[in-house]
Order: sequence, then structure tokens, then C-alpha cells
Amino acid sequence: MAERLAVFFDPCIFEHDTGQGFFEARESPYLPVIESHPENAARVRNMLAVLQQGPIAEALDWHAGAAAQRQDLERFHVAAYIDELASNPADETRWYSGTTVFGPGSYDICRNAAGQALAAASHVFDGKSKLAYALLRPPGHHAQPEMADGYCFFNNIGVAIESLRARGLKSAAVIDWDVHHGNGTQEGYYNDPDILTISLHMNHGAWGETHPQTGAVDEVGDGRGLGKNLNLPMPYGAGDSAYARVFDEIVAPMVRAHRPEILFIANGQDANQFDPNGRQLLSMQGFYELGKRARALADECCAGRLVLVQEGGYAISYAAYCLHAILEGVLGREPGLPDPLAYMQEDTGGLDEFIKQMQRRYAASLG
Ligand SMILES: [Zn+2]
Repeated sequence: MAERLAVFFDPCIFEHDTGQGFFEARESPYLPVIESHPENAARVRNMLAVLQQGPIAEALDWHAGAAAQRQDLERFHVAAYIDELASNPADETRWYSGTTVFGPGSYDICRNAAGQALAAASHVFDGKSKLAYALLRPPGHHAQPEMADGYCFFNNIGVAIESLRARGLKSAAVIDWDVHHGNGTQEGYYNDPDILTISLHMNHGAWGETHPQTGAVDEVGDGRGLGKNLNLPMPYGAGDSAYARVFDEIVAPMVRAHRPEILFIANGQDANQFDPNGRQLLSMQGFYELGKRARALADECCAGRLVLVQEGGYAISYAAYCLHAILEGVLGREPGLPDPLAYMQEDTGGLDEFIKQMQRRYAASLG
């Protein structure tokens, strides 16, 4: 039987209004053209469209999960923080950490987003499908138990994992390939021996009070969770081959050793080569390879149970194409969409080899 992927989505997520400004900040007095906030509805409208109309459309089964309830949220987040978000007046927009915008209606939309992740995870946990993906916004991986951060309010994956644990799940692994450090998930599981958290990200460090974690390699978990948090701060400019090697040589062995019952992917596409918020160079092909690897790892370690949850990805056109490529890899299909923006034919990834070649080429001049 052909492979199927269950997709969880509710159009209310388009109503989360992050406004406009100078990139992600307020308007600039010097510039006449106002940009959309990077975390905007348009990016996800394109993701939805490419899934509905692209080659994988025939392999997708669409569902809408119910909004997460208060008790679902409280399994990951503290009550006072949920109260604060819930109390936002209907006509007020709040800004957290300068760039994380919470507007009228955002509380229910964020509950709905968490609900899509929760429903996708339950679908797989209950054996209704092996593969599920939650298409949602706002993203979740920066949201910590006690605070919002980096456009995120509820940690969608954390809420989903906790709902499964309440129903008997013993262990899980999260691979976060969003270009930013998955600090919220790290914070939630830092002392937890059963939830392995792995984050591949550009080496951006902490970014203020809402993001005290640095994403450095020495943040390895604490107490009983020691060794169960793995940070992989990738060099700026890392591309397809770098991500594939790190996945094969570090990520996969760690997940194998943990033996999770279910594998979660914090599925951002902002490591793509055109992303305004990232400085990495993944192409559609690179994302396809990551999708394929995630699927193979899930097949090997946890009976194929794989749940992908949307995170960042801010290049309005290219992130959608990269998402399609990831899910083709997950489904074990051949790439069916040509890369509309590829201008790097091949990522050799080998600076050492390049230097050697140049040394040979210019041997006479180099002396
Ligand atoms: Zn990101």
C-alpha cells in the first residue's frame, strides 16, 4: 500500500496577527516600506497550498484537531503563565521580548496550534497512522514552561508529548532542525531522563532575558536528565552535506541509544539558503535528505512512529518548497518538484578539499 501522511491543520491559525514593522521590530523612521513580521500568515498559506497542490497531495489525509485544553497546557506550562496569556484583552496587542507579538484572539489560536500537534501525536500513538505532520503557527520550540520567546507561546511539541505521557508513553526523542536553538524544549526537559532533546541550530547563542539558554554543547541536561540534551551549534553557512553528516554521525546514534517509543521532529525550514532569519544554506535537496533520514530512523528505532510539527521557516516561497521536499523524504517518494531557486548545483561541503585543489592548481605561485 502506498505510504500515507496524516496532516493536522485548522485555518484559524491564519488569524494570529503579528503586524508589520521593520523586519520583526517596530517601524523604522528611515524606511518608507514596511515589512510583514517574519512569522506571518503568508508563509503558512504557501505551505498549505504546496501540500494541497504539489505531487504529495495524493498521499495526504487531512484532519483538524481540537484546541488544547487548559489541562493539556498545564502539563508543560505553569499556570501563572497561561493565566497571563489568557487575560490578554480582546483589543490589546502585547509584545514579548520585543519581537514576539500576541494580539487579539491569539490565546485561542495558540491553543488551537498546540491542539494540532497534540492530535497529530495522538493519531500516531493510537496506531491510526505511523506518520503525522502538524501544520501550524505560531511555532513552539522557544516557548518555555514559564515564558514566551522567539514568536512562540505554547511549546506545541512539549504539550503533545505530555499528553501522551499522561496516557502511558514512556520515552520520546525530539530532533529539532529549525535553524534556531530549541531552547524551550530544552528547558522543559532538562532534568528529564526519558525525553531526549537534540537541537541542530546556527551558533547564535543566547538573545536576552527570554532566552537565557545558549544552545552550546556544554548544555547537556542536568540531574537525572544528564546526557539527554544534545546541542549541535552548526557553523554559519552549513549546508546540505554538513546537515546530512551531522545527522548520520551524531544525531542518529544518539537516538538509537535512547530507544524512544516515538520520534518528534521540530520541523523548521529556516536553515534554508534564502531565509531572512537564518544564515545556513540548506536546499530543497538537503531538506529532502533530512526527511528521508528521519523516516529511516523512526523505522529503525520506534516502529516507524514519526510526528513532525511545524516550527520556523520565513522565506515565504522557499520554505514551502522545502517543507514539500521534507515530506517527500518522509514518505519515501522521489523528489517530484524541481527546485525553483537552486543555483548551487552541488554542495560538496568540503573546504579541506577545496583548499587542496587550489593549492594544487596554484602550486607554482604559492611556492
Ligand atoms: Zn527558527
